[in-house]
Amino acid sequence: MKCPFCSSDDTRVVNSRPSDEGAAIRRRRECNACHRRFTTYERAQFEALMVRKRSGRREVFDPDKLLAKLSIACNKRPISDKQLRAFAYGFEDDVSLPEISSEEIGRRTLAFLKRLDDVAYIRFLSVYRDFDSVDRFIEEIRQLGGDRGTATQPTLDELAEESERSR
Ligand SMILES: [Zn+2]
Repeated sequence: MKCPFCSSDDTRVVNSRPSDEGAAIRRRRECNACHRRFTTYERAQFEALMVRKRSGRREVFDPDKLLAKLSIACNKRPISDKQLRAFAYGFEDDVSLPEISSEEIGRRTLAFLKRLDDVAYIRFLSVYRDFDSVDRFIEEIRQLGGDRGTATQPTLDELAEESERSR
């Protein structure tokens, strides 16, 4: 099993236990190269986390897809690949239900980005959340400004520009 953080092949199982009442085996692994830990689940494919799309269609959750979207939103921002990988590959661990809506994935991703970087947050917001009006989008940005407000934060105009560029 490859380490999702540094891609080393040198990983070992720290512990292993049944999960979901025996429907899966949860393995805690540690990378011998970077010493970070991650979790793998061994389960029948139909038990995989399902994503319910807005269209009503369902598909298996794919952490690589989430990582790709995050990478676009965080392009040239001061966020490490490690942070993004930890979030994308750890995502399933925090979901206790067998199914999650794509909106909920978006919400959790936005909460994660909001803690890291305003520009990445706005980029993700502008691309992956539908706004029924420009006003609501502006309102969202305004709230973001109100939450913090130190001198180093980008201004409203800068954020709006950023979101334009990332479209
Ligand atoms: Zn590693």
